[in-house]
Amino acid sequence: MLVALDAGHGGSDSGCRSVVDGTFESHYVLQVTKLVEKLLKPHVDVMLTREDDTFVSLRERCRDANARKADLLVSLHTNFATSSAQGYEVFTSRGTTRADKLALKLASRHIETFPAQRNRGIKEANFYMLKHTFMPAALVEFGFFSNIDEVTWLTMDKTKAKLAEAVASGILDFLNISQTDQPALTLEERVARLEDHLRL
Ligand SMILES: [Zn+2]
Repeated sequence: MLVALDAGHGGSDSGCRSVVDGTFESHYVLQVTKLVEKLLKPHVDVMLTREDDTFVSLRERCRDANARKADLLVSLHTNFATSSAQGYEVFTSRGTTRADKLALKLASRHIETFPAQRNRGIKEANFYMLKHTFMPAALVEFGFFSNIDEVTWLTMDKTKAKLAEAVASGILDFLNISQTDQPALTLEERVARLEDHLRL
């Protein structure tokens, strides 16, 4: 099982910027992406469309995920608006049931983790990353970097860790992988455990 994580933007394309401290979306989503990667690694293989703060075109990102036959792709972003908009939303490509299911799993975990954040729902959009990837794909907008309250909350370390947990859990739910599953034991480990147990 291979999960593709796409940290939006990067390099010369910094995405949006926090109205509070100027944090770049590109830096922020890369941090969260790496946290998600760490959480997923005990369960599945993970590929990142970019590993550091470099510019990678949308075309290259899709080509990479397609060539490696990733089983799903999640693209991570933060939002910006000139209004006081706030909230979380997920986008899927039009008319793909599997991608809708992925978006639903991601949104469910997010809403469960952050019941107080405004939920803008699951939406369909013909974004490049969603349209040009062969696997189920979803694009997450964690919240608005243009909203002072929301960006202050989003950029806290605790929030980043929880955002990552929600994304990882949503992905594992979609793949029907239980997070409590223990890694498979070797025969020797099982015998050792049994011996330990019998000694008690
Ligand atoms: Zn973005």
